[in-house]
Amino acid sequence: MSSLFPNYGRWPIQIVKGEGNYLWDAAGNKYLDLVAGIAVTSLGNVPPKVKAKVQEQLDTLWHCSNLFEIPVQEKLADKLVSLTCGSRAFFCNSGAEANEAAIKLARRYMQKIKGENRYEVITFTQSFHGRTLATLTATGQDKVKDGFAPLPEGFVTVPYNDLEALTAAITDKTCAIMLEMIQGEGGVHPADPEFAEGIKQLCDQHDLLLIVDEVQTGIGRTGKWFAHQHYGLEPDIITMAKGLGSGFPIGAIVGKEKLADAFSAGSHGTTFGGNPLASAAGLATLETIEEDHYLDRVTEIGAFFAEELQKLAAKHPEVVNVRGKGLMMGVELAMEAAPVVNAMREQYHILLLMAGPNVVRLLPPFTITKEEIAHAVTVLDDVLTAVKANV
Ligand SMILES: *Cc1c(COP(=O)(O)O)cnc(C)c1O
Repeated sequence: MSSLFPNYGRWPIQIVKGEGNYLWDAAGNKYLDLVAGIAVTSLGNVPPKVKAKVQEQLDTLWHCSNLFEIPVQEKLADKLVSLTCGSRAFFCNSGAEANEAAIKLARRYMQKIKGENRYEVITFTQSFHGRTLATLTATGQDKVKDGFAPLPEGFVTVPYNDLEALTAAITDKTCAIMLEMIQGEGGVHPADPEFAEGIKQLCDQHDLLLIVDEVQTGIGRTGKWFAHQHYGLEPDIITMAKGLGSGFPIGAIVGKEKLADAFSAGSHGTTFGGNPLASAAGLATLETIEEDHYLDRVTEIGAFFAEELQKLAAKHPEVVNVRGKGLMMGVELAMEAAPVVNAMREQYHILLLMAGPNVVRLLPPFTITKEEIAHAVTVLDDVLTAVKANV
């Protein structure tokens, strides 16, 4: 019996080693990794340049609290700010914490300038924002809320890509609109460009803050640094985590200058946030993406991947839709995705993910090659045929 809480539905595999686009289990089996630790190890497993920088930091200083100035954290903040429309960064340790910080910042700013009734955050169905009490309340999926009542007040959820419903939900209590540009956990659903444009106008018109959750889509995953940059949006707050540290736990928000005073000294914080090791991993990750031109690579390889998946869709009527951007792809099936994902892993040692019951999600490392993608799609072709014959 395991000494762990059974809160994860785990695959019965012990991963003991990773290198580049491959993982190895305790029995010595080698797996092609199209999951990247759920959009985390974007530069592949144990990326050499990031490893070198983290190792250097390991030899120098592991932790020092935010009671001190931390130069490498400052550098990471400078870098993030240079890649976004924001001008201030705050570091934490996870995506949920980044979203929690964004909600707190939005409320504190709004309540200071508009009064204490401006606290409501509007979010969307099928969204995913995390597992803390506030972020699970913000999440537009009932399954993450089950059994955790009472939930905090101040969240309203409306249908995604429905501008009319969003407009109708805005009241004099509304403080912010919070969304993913491509819903990850919810099924790889991109925002319609008209929806994004409408949100921008509503925020201007009603003086609302725009929070974009880039925890999964950020740090190059879609071919730009952040997915909202495909839409020409300038969010007030951007949240990020998964791909930022190449596997080292780190989360962050970047916000506009007008928000700076709302996080005055002592108003928010966390012990580990942006510590030297995490910041070194984050900085090395961003520098590597830039130096090695990974955004171009994600765009090019992502387009190839999408084409291959479209060909697959043309062959299999069970593939009802191929969605996504860059190296964040979803393949919606007219049947359950689990048998497909399981067969790919068990029989062919290719790791894929689900996003809801009918969607196969692909989040490969940016280092994935066209040959590896072609191989994975060929195998997926066979597996679809085999699974279909069995149902
Ligand atoms: C994973 C995820 C989160 C939560 O991040 P954790 O690090 O698991 O807390 C929040 N938002 C989105 C869009 C995510 O994909």
